[in-house]
Formats: sequence, structure tokens, C-alpha cells
Amino acid sequence: MKFAEFCDYLLKLEKTTKRLEMFDTLSDMFSNIDNEEIAKAVYFIQEELLPPFYNVQLGIADKVAEKAIAEAYSVDVKGLSQEYSKKGDLGELAEKYNKKNTGSEVSLSHVYNKIFDITKITGDGSVELKIKSLATLIKEVSGLESKYIIRFVLGKLRLGVGEATIMEALSKSKTGDRKFKLELERAFNLCSDLGYVAEVFYKGGEEKIRRFKIEVMRPIRPALAERLPSVHEIVKKLGKFAVDQKFDGFRSQVHKDGDKVKIFSRNLEDITHFMPEVAEAVKKLKHKRFIFDSEALTYDENTNMLYPFQITMQRKRKHGVEEKAQSLPLRLFVFDIMLLDDKDLINEPFIKRREILDKLFEENSSLARTKMIITDSESEMTKFFDDTVSNGLEGVVAKKLDAPYSAGARNFGWIKLKRSYGAALEDTIDVVILGYYRGKGIRASFGLGGLLVGVFDEKADTFKTITKLGSGFSEEQFKELKRILDDIRVEHKPARVDSILQPDIWVSPKYVLTLKADEITRSPTHTAGLENGTGYALRFPRAVSFIRKDKRAEDCNTVRDIIEMFKDQKSVKLKN
Ligand code: ATP
Repeated sequence: MKFAEFCDYLLKLEKTTKRLEMFDTLSDMFSNIDNEEIAKAVYFIQEELLPPFYNVQLGIADKVAEKAIAEAYSVDVKGLSQEYSKKGDLGELAEKYNKKNTGSEVSLSHVYNKIFDITKITGDGSVELKIKSLATLIKEVSGLESKYIIRFVLGKLRLGVGEATIMEALSKSKTGDRKFKLELERAFNLCSDLGYVAEVFYKGGEEKIRRFKIEVMRPIRPALAERLPSVHEIVKKLGKFAVDQKFDGFRSQVHKDGDKVKIFSRNLEDITHFMPEVAEAVKKLKHKRFIFDSEALTYDENTNMLYPFQITMQRKRKHGVEEKAQSLPLRLFVFDIMLLDDKDLINEPFIKRREILDKLFEENSSLARTKMIITDSESEMTKFFDDTVSNGLEGVVAKKLDAPYSAGARNFGWIKLKRSYGAALEDTIDVVILGYYRGKGIRASFGLGGLLVGVFDEKADTFKTITKLGSGFSEEQFKELKRILDDIRVEHKPARVDSILQPDIWVSPKYVLTLKADEITRSPTHTAGLENGTGYALRFPRAVSFIRKDKRAEDCNTVRDIIEMFKDQKSVKLKN
């Protein structure tokens, strides 16, 4: 496909405020793309060159883009810089100064490959070379094309198209209806690479997708846990089941293939470099090939103490990983296995996987297994829960004995029960930022006084508002939020946001933060769970985290979670 044609579709996607229109435009676009370009189109729309676990960073600096535009269209860079600080969109400025109105002849692949080459430039003089290469690229193309190239390389495309919409559109374009989305989703859950799935589908058809299997070194989307409020409800739901220790660490999916080891985070980044001591320990295991699931925690062998999540995370932020690996080594608590040698274990019953896992390794300072019991009794589970919690752990995960590993899914195969449950809304809620209000009084001087936040509606593939949020942040954080959110601001309500309220500024649904509230209430103002004019809202919400780097927008709590929490909260009240 010509890149110019591709950009016409992007323009349509950008303009739409309705998810259905977004779907139609995508289906139409995908119908016109060939096998060789479909993966690239999917990546481009997802604002990435490759999925996160490839560690290919787009991140071209604003200054590089400014200089490239100045060079390509012979404009004064100072003036351009000033205009940019006023307008805030370099893509639009590229379009303005590029005088070509008719689309170029270059293909989508050509643009994608050129951008890929630019990201690979490193070393001495790399900045100059990046500017030159980007300038050459945007000189070849029309105004509209240069707008999208610049936005893309800056990571500011902000189309807000979700994975579900892409899969439905792929299904429609090849089979004529959306139903095949379910199969595409299964494949995506097994490899976390939507571009790759699209290519396999286009080249190999429905059959290849139906036979899609996990592969070592391609991360599986992690299985997630449902919640229930009490031991009683869990026993009622599961009958006889396993109760596993729940560690509040860093989700780590480990892949080994010969002497190659890779470790992936919950949001599927390659984090091997940040756990060298663990990677070494895994390398030494005798089995050649496997994939297992675990939580990593900082562990002090001398005191037998585990350190909280925050300490473990410090490694990611600070330098000196090697030093930390010596002074505060990590220990993996392994709880599941998905592949061993050439055997795909995903669909084996949990209990069988666990038996295989039990034989995989001898425990040592880097590798351990979670402790687990099998029971059908409330008192036994309660005792295990109490013992686990008094050992400083977060709680337990109850596991259905015959459940497969549910890649990318949250269902009752796993049910979490945490220490804090029981009181009215003691649990925290993860929300996604949808927009902000400019603020009054002192906050007006920060430029941001409060946020409009929401939760995810999985069925509708949209974000629904649940509360405004104005407390829990320091002055510095208000200012930082303004800066971060301005980078993802959009001109109109994003197509996948469902809201009655209108914030001063809309942003692309991207950033998640954790809050606490006193209560979930019914309310006509918010769209979360809205039915017959009443939705759900939060009373006295306050942020308990800043932006969470480990979660994507779709990983925040869902409308379904909120309804469950609301019900639990009620039953607690009734007991009082
Ligand atoms: P979620 O990961 O479910 O979206 P969250 O990040 O708030 O939510 P929790 O609600 O605390 O996490 O609990 C679920 C998480 O617990 C799992 O995603 C997993 O990372 C972690 N976990 C810890 N121990 C276990 C275990 N033994 N089995 C399964 N998951 C575990």
C-alpha cells in the first residue's frame, strides 16, 4: 500500500469519535493491505515498530524532529521551536511547512523500514545522522504523510485504537465477519505479538491460526486472577482446589532455550538485563527448553526476609544492577509452567503442570517454588491464609485443579484473596487517566487541578469514567502530571472513551494509577456500569501511586471488578 493511502486512513481514524467508525475504517484499510505489509500496518497503528519485548525504542527526541523539519523544508529552527512550544504538535508543523499536497509514491514498507533504520543509528555523530535521515524521509513525502511520520517517531500518534478493535477488523477483512476475532485473540494471547498474528493469518489463513502454539522466546500474555470476597465463597465456587502463596513481587515469565534465557515482565518487556543473577541460575538448570511463570522478590538469605515490591523496582530505575544483584539478590517464586522441552503444557490441568514444575529444579537462593496445599475445607484454607499472611505475604491465590493456563485472561481458574479484603472497600483500584481539569486557586498555577479517570469495559472495548480525582498528589506531582499528560493530549474525546462529563483537556487513555476510595456509590454522572441512568462512582478517592509503568491502560480495573467490589462492600455492610 502506498504510504499516502495509509495516511488517508490514519486521518479518518484520527477524526472519528465513534468506535464503530474506527472499526469500519480499519476493516477497510486491512482489506487493501497485502500479506507482506499487514504486520507493519498493525505495528504502526499500535504506535510501535515491534512489540515491547523486542526492546526497539522509537523515542526520537523532539529536538531531533525539530531540526529534521527545519532542514527538510528550509525553515528557521528557532522560529519552529517557538511555534512548537505554542502549538504543541510537531506533526502539524511538518504538515504546514511541507508544501506538497499530492501523496507520494513511497510504500508503507519503505517508510517503516526507513524509520527502523533511524532507530538503529547509535554512536558518535548519531544525532546528526538521525536528523539527516529523518529530513530525507519527510522530504520525499506529502504534508499529510510527514505529519504522521513525525507524530509516529515521537510516539505521539495518539490514535487510541485498541487491540480488540484491530483483531475484529482483521477478522472482518479476511472472513467477512468479526467472529474469527476469538481465534485471533487466542493466538495473540500465546505470543503477545499482534503484527505477527496478523501476518500468520494473512499468509496461512484460518487453519494456521487455529493451530497456533506457544513458542519459546515469545512471551505468553500472563494469566490473571479473579477476586472473591471470602474463603466461604471460594470454597463454594471451586469445591476441591489448590491454595497457593501470593507474593507481592515483580511478575516474571522465564524462557530458556539452550543457553539462551529471557525474562519478561507483566507488560511484556524484556527485563533479563535487570535480573542477571536469576538468568544465570536459570541457565544452569538441566532442562534445555522451558517457560515458567513466577514472581521475583528481593530476598535476604541471612535474615530470611523478603523486601516489598518498591525495593525490587528500584533496580529498574537506578543504575548498578550488578551491584544490587550482589547486595540484594532477587529470588524467583515459581508457580506455573507452560512449556517443557517440546511439550506445550498450556492446556494440561493445573495440577499436572504443578507436578511437572515440582521436578524442574532443586530450590536454591535464586529459585524457589510457592508453597501450596490442596483442600476442600474452609477451615483448612483459612488456616493456610492466616499463616501465609502472618508470614508477611500478601494473601493467597486459589487455583482450580483442572484449569488450563489461561493466557491473557482473567477468570475463576485463579481467585485471589488478599489480606486487606473484608472491610468496606479496603482494596485499591487501578484507573486510567482520561482527561484533566485546569483547576482553581493554587492548582490553577500548576495548570492542572484534577483528573477525570475511568475503568475498562472489556465487552465494549471502551473506557468508562468512574470519578474525578484531585487528591493524593504533591505540588511537584501535579506539575509533572500536567507535563506528562500534555504530551498525550488530544483534540476531542477519544473514540474508545465513554463519558458524560467533559474535562478541559482530553488525553489518550494510556496512563494507569492506583487510588483508594471510601466507598463505591451509585451515580448518574459516570458511565462505569451505567444502566437505566445509574452508573458507579467513587467517594473520596485519593491517589496512592503515581503513574504506574508496569500497567497498560487495558490492565486497569474493569467495570466488572467494580460491580463485584460494590457487591462485596454491600455484604460487608449487611453483616455489620
Ligand atoms: P492483576 O495482576 O490481577 O491485574 P494486581 O496487579 O493488582 O492485579 P493483585 O490483585 O495483587 O495484582 O494479584 C494478582 C497478581 O498476583 C498476579 O497477576 C500475579 O502477578 C501475582 N501473584 C503472586 N503470587 C502468585 C501465585 N502464586 N499465583 C498466581 N499469581 C500470583
